Amino acid sequence: MHKFVHLFKLGWAYKITKAVTLSYPPYQYTIEPTNQCNLGCDFCPQSDPEHEKLRPVGMLTSDNLQLFLERAKEAGSSNRNLNFTLDGEPFLNKEFISFIEMANRAGFFPRFATNGTMLDRDKIDRLIAAGPFLASIDFSSDLEIFEAIRGKPGHFAKLHENLLYLIEKSHTEPGVHLDIHDITSYAGYDPDRSLDRMRVLFPVNIPSRIKFDYRKFHSFCGHLKAKSDKSSYRLCPYPWIQMAIAHNGDCVACCRDTAGRSVLGNVFDDPIMTVWNNDKYRQFRQNLLDQRPNLNGACKDCDLPYADDPVRWKLKYMLHSLLGR
Ligand code: SF4
Repeated sequence: MHKFVHLFKLGWAYKITKAVTLSYPPYQYTIEPTNQCNLGCDFCPQSDPEHEKLRPVGMLTSDNLQLFLERAKEAGSSNRNLNFTLDGEPFLNKEFISFIEMANRAGFFPRFATNGTMLDRDKIDRLIAAGPFLASIDFSSDLEIFEAIRGKPGHFAKLHENLLYLIEKSHTEPGVHLDIHDITSYAGYDPDRSLDRMRVLFPVNIPSRIKFDYRKFHSFCGHLKAKSDKSSYRLCPYPWIQMAIAHNGDCVACCRDTAGRSVLGNVFDDPIMTVWNNDKYRQFRQNLLDQRPNLNGACKDCDLPYADDPVRWKLKYMLHSLLGR
């Protein structure tokens, strides 16, 4: 299916007909290499002592990734981007670099979020050899704030060194794409000023594939308290756009549902279109259409349906964000 046809069908179902049975496959996939992490950052559900009890720790295997890639192709994916992100730190999965190679070989463009602390020069070189990728990495303008949020001393210097090496390699390696996010605003600092301060820690002349921004935090389905006006409900688009898959094949609500509060099917057991339109998925969408997010385990404490940000609900913003992802 052509990307624009795909987006047209998606927009038609979400905005116009409010369909719960979808005639198109997921536009966006995110699949989790592992739900294990080596950190417990304050803003992330990994810092919750109960988190591990909700979902036992496990790893995606190459065989299951291969099965998923075949099923995504069979479903007719129009979007080359494939996200390796949900819960956990991907480099804890020893096979992760080969996953990047497999995704590239299957015609996808792999993207992932990593805390970057497990990288070293050798791993970065092997990652680059596995093919093009986009890595999204959190950093900060301030050592003390960064290490207080992430809870481990020494990580600021190590990550700074890894980022400088990635940026150095990006001059000669066109497959290296980076989104470097400043997380200092989590501690209450002005995001724009902090971003300016972080930017000076890196060279000036760098390829446009290396981008800097500040992180916008959401509630992670209730892990963080969020200001919300419950009278201004908006329909969350995720169940019309994205399929988020845990390491064991379980499809959860979306990329925010790292604790697996809503499990809607399993793509290692069933074809993608079967899961995408099964009773659980359709009821999940219907609950959101009925303005009853409280009936969905993942959505009941999520801040997105009440997000007080008029820009994010504009069609232009949604289209721009979909084309970029
Ligand atoms: S309401 Fe929140 S938890 Fe539910 S699908 Fe949307 S973003 Fe995910």
